[in-house]
Order: sequence, then C-alpha cells, then structure tokens
Amino acid sequence: MTTGQQFDAIVVGAGPAGSSAALAMARAGLRVALIERGEYAGAKNVSGAALYAPGLLAELLPNYWEEAPVERFLTRRVISLLGQESALSIDFRTDHFAQPPYNGFTILRPKFDRWLADKAQQAGASLITSTVVDDVLYERDQVAGVLCRREQGELYAPVVIAADGANSFLAKKAGLQGEFKAGEMTLGIKEVLRLDAHTIEERFNLTNDQGVATEYVGFATGNVKGGAFLYTNRDTLSIGLVTQIASLAQQRVKPYELLDRFKQHPAVAPLVRDSVPIEYSAHMIPEGGWAMLPKLSRGGLLVVGDAAGFVFAAGIFLEGMNFAIASGLAAAATAQEAHSQGDFSTASMARYRQQLEKSFVLQDLKRFRRAPAFLNNERLLHMYPELLCQAAENVFRSDGRPRRKLGRTIYSTMRGKVALRTLLRDGWQAARALFF
Ligand SMILES: Cc1cc2nc3c(=O)[nH]c(=O)nc-3n(C[C@H](O)[C@H](O)[C@H](O)COP(=O)(O)OP(=O)(O)OC[C@H]3O[C@@H](n4cnc5c(N)ncnc54)[C@H](O)[C@@H]3O)c2cc1C
Repeated sequence: MTTGQQFDAIVVGAGPAGSSAALAMARAGLRVALIERGEYAGAKNVSGAALYAPGLLAELLPNYWEEAPVERFLTRRVISLLGQESALSIDFRTDHFAQPPYNGFTILRPKFDRWLADKAQQAGASLITSTVVDDVLYERDQVAGVLCRREQGELYAPVVIAADGANSFLAKKAGLQGEFKAGEMTLGIKEVLRLDAHTIEERFNLTNDQGVATEYVGFATGNVKGGAFLYTNRDTLSIGLVTQIASLAQQRVKPYELLDRFKQHPAVAPLVRDSVPIEYSAHMIPEGGWAMLPKLSRGGLLVVGDAAGFVFAAGIFLEGMNFAIASGLAAAATAQEAHSQGDFSTASMARYRQQLEKSFVLQDLKRFRRAPAFLNNERLLHMYPELLCQAAENVFRSDGRPRRKLGRTIYSTMRGKVALRTLLRDGWQAARALFF
C-alpha cells in the first residue's frame, strides 16, 4: 500500500534527458514529477556545449531556437591535430548549416537546462528542485517510486525514469548497472572565458550568429590520453579537455594544469588572448559506448541519457545531449503506451529498447562500437598528430635548398618513428572503427 504522493511518472534529473521526457509526458496529459538535486535545473551541469540535431525538440517546441538561450549556430567544424608547437587542421564551413532547424548550436548548460525544465513545468510537470533522490522504492519486485532526501520523501509512480546522468546511482540501485571498468569513463573539464562578441566574430572569422566548434587531438593533453575542444558562444568561449581518468592518474597531472598548458599552445593562445575566465567546471563522461551499455529497463523503470551511457564519442564526434534528448523522448513514449495499456511490467518497459534500436541512439553506438577502443590507441592520440605536423612542416619548409618529391619528404619524416606494419595495422583499425 503506497502512502506518499502519487504521480503517473517520476523523472529523476533535469538535464536534457530528464526535462525532454518530462515535457513530452506532461504534454500527453500525465501527472509528472521532475526531481532535480540542483538549486535549479542546469545549476551544476557541464557540456562543451555543442547541441547537435537540435530539430529533435522541434516537434514539441516548434522554432524554439527563436526564444531559447541559444548562443551561436554552428556553421564551421574544425579538427586540429596538435604537435608540440604546430597544428594541422581540417576546417569545414557551410551555409547549409545556417538554416532552421540547424545542424547544431552552442549553448551554456545552466541557461539552456533551466529554460528546458521551465518548458516541462509550463506543460504541467511538477519541478522539484534542491532535492536528492536517494533510493528506489519497490512493490512486488517492480519499481514503484523513489525516496527523496527530505521529510516524507516517498514519491510513487508506476513508471520512474532514471535521468540522473553519468555513473547513475539509480541504475545501480535498481540492479541494471554494475561498476565501471577503467577506460569507460573520462573526465571532462571546462572553462568559460569572457570575450566580447565583436572580437569573437573577427578572430574566428564568423558573421552574425554563426559559430565554430573545434576539436583537438595530439599535444592538447600532453602525455595524458584525451582531446580538447574550443567552442564559440555569443560573448564567451567554452574551452576544455576530455581526459581518460586512468591516464590522468598514471601521469600524475592535475587537470587544470593540463588545461592551462593547452591554452598556451601557439595554435590556441592567440584565440583566447585577453579573455577572462568566469567559470570552471568538471564532470564525468561515460565514453565506453556500446560495450558499456547497462540493461535499459526493468518493470517500472527506464534509464535514459548519460545514466544509460548514451554518449557518442568517436574522435571527431562528442555527442551526448542529442542522445539524451532522443532517449528521453523514447522513454516518454514508452511510459505513455504503458499507461494506455495499464501495463508497467518488464515486458512493457522493454519496448523502450525496441524504440531506441530504430533510432540513431542505438544504431550509431552499435555501428561505431569499435571507436572507443581504437581511440584509446596511444599512437593515434600522440604520435600520429606529432608526425603529421612534422611532415607538414617539412613539406612547407622553404630554405633555399632543392625540394624533394612530397612522398619522399613524408616517408623520411616517418622513417624510424613508426614501423610500416604498425602503420598499416592502425590504418586498418581506423577504417573498421570509423569508415566501413
Ligand atoms: C566537458 C564536457 C563536454 C561535453 N561536450 C558535449 C558537447 O559538446 N555536445 C554534447 O552533445 N555532449 C557533450 N557532453 C556530454 C553531455 O554533457 C552529456 O551527454 C549530457 O549532459 C547528458 O544529459 P543527461 O540529461 O543524460 O545528464 P546530465 O546532463 O548529467 O543531467 C543529469 C541531471 O540529474 C541530476 N541528478 C543526478 N543525480 C541526482 C539525484 N540523485 N537526485 C536528483 N537529481 C539528480 C543532476 O543534477 C543533473 O541535473 C560533454 C560532457 C562534458 C563533461
């Protein structure tokens, strides 16, 4: 017999996954509780943040980018390989990404998450902030509610959605997730740097609301395995590193020291010159991909977003928010169907996974399942970027001596540094992880 407050659905965590789920269910007429431990939604949330596939939310919130706290529309993507003092970059830009519904835009999570949670609230969801969920409640072996850290903290609903982010406490409590293996979690650290909009536009070659997302590999993280990013917002820059936790511990480096060094790299320093740090944050990222997926549901419970490990980290891609939104919407649809049939059993909740299998969420993670292991390759992260920068330097050097043919210049740069067999093996693994 349940004595606490009763809802149709409880969502734990008001990040993009939880707020999207709550919004969709509230719009469908369900009584929803959206519980968030932060003082407000987004208060402690961290991303780069480039929100890709923003059209996912447009069905519920048509043209929302006109009113949402969106920073810049991403029309440029840059991939930069860093050597110790050099950089070799691919710089892509297109005006096709400048039209609604856009390909992606930069956001600042505290503003955006708060706005999205407000939308869920306006649709009828009860947003309960400054409240930590401590446990899952059961009835006849089925999840039936949650226990909050407060007086009379029992809340009941026939379906609970765990949207509590990386290292989900709820998924573990409900027996769906075990402990993580080393290498499955990375640590993301980020600074927001104040710089006026005009300087950003001039320095990054941007017009009006357009923005650029740059990803770096190579010397960006010194000897630590990882990568870096620099995104343009309206009048700030978001700069940060994504580092493997085991590698950080092994190299005995402090993350903020690494970030400081990255900011001093000759290819980065001119971009952040005269900017003022206004915010520093750090957060874990579940980057293990397909291999680390937990069980996604059980009777009365669905796991979404980072809580389920839905992060697509494949070198040139770091996407989690769009996976969070898509999985939140799929969970909401499953909850609606369960309500219409009055069935919250394990079999009913399993429809959630079937929905995800039809969407990019599980298809991308499965298709690129070899990427996380491949991206762990030391040579890929450090040796090849350095060698490619050296090769470029040798190709472009003009010192009054006769030039060699390009193939010979590149070959002599690589000779003695990496065996041809190793190069071919890494090339084959790259092809399998990312291309075919
Ligand atoms: C440095 C960094 C850069 C990134 N860059 C990008 C990027 O550019 N693009 C991209 O798409 N993704 C990026 N990601 C990944 C992205 O941030 C996540 O995939 C995304 O935030 C997942 O959303 P979520 O709603 O599942 O979880 P979260 O955003 O983590 O939200 C979880 C929510 O649950 C709340 N919560 C947790 N436990 C409890 C509890 N017990 N009780 C109540 N509330 C609780 C938290 O306070 C939080 O509000 C980045 C991540 C990091 C760390």
